[in-house]
Amino acid sequence: MKLLLLRCPKCNQALSPGQDDRVIQCPNCHEAVSLDEGGLRLLPVQYVTPIQPRPEAWLPFWVYRGEVTIQVRETQGGHSAQDEARAFWAKTRFVYIPAWSCELAEARVLATKLLEKQPLLMAVSPPEGATFPPVALAPEDGRKLVDLVIVSIEAGRRDWMEKLKYDLRLDSEALWLLPARRDGDEWSLLIKGL
Ligand SMILES: [Zn+2]
Repeated sequence: MKLLLLRCPKCNQALSPGQDDRVIQCPNCHEAVSLDEGGLRLLPVQYVTPIQPRPEAWLPFWVYRGEVTIQVRETQGGHSAQDEARAFWAKTRFVYIPAWSCELAEARVLATKLLEKQPLLMAVSPPEGATFPPVALAPEDGRKLVDLVIVSIEAGRRDWMEKLKYDLRLDSEALWLLPARRDGDEWSLLIKGL
C-alpha cells in the first residue's frame, strides 16, 4: 500500500479523500480539488443561482453537450412518436449527470428530468460556507449513464418502442453544483426552469 500525503494545491491543507473520490472540496479554502493519476489539481466549478436563499445542499453534476442522431426507432405498429423523437434530438442538448455517490434509480430520475427540461444554468459566485459532497463518478463513467437516460426518455414516449439505435456525441464536460433540498426520500433541485 502506498501512503500519499495529499495537500490542497491552493492552501496546502492536508486532505483525506475516500477511496472512490474523484473530486473533493478542500475543508479550508472550499476549492474543488480533482484527484487523478496525474496528482491533485484545482478544478473550476460553477455554482448555479438558487431560487431560494441558503439551500440546504449543493449537488455536483457533470454537464455535457450532447448530440444524438436517431438511426432506427421502430414501434410495434400503431401510433409512432418518431417525429417527436427526431424533433427533440434535432437540437444539441445539455446532459446533466449526478456525480456524487447516489443510487442509480435516483440518478436516472434526476438526469432524465434535467435532460427533458433543459434548464439554463446561471452561475453565481461561490456562496459563503457552501459545501458539496465528494464526486464519486469519473466524467467518462458519466457517459455510460447518458445511454440509460436516452433509452429511458425514448421508452417513455407515447408509443410502443421496440427497437432503438442512435449515435451519441458528447463533449466538454464541466462540473456544476446545483442547489437542492431534500423532500422525503428525494432531492428537489432549487433552480429555475424545472
Ligand atoms: Zn484549500
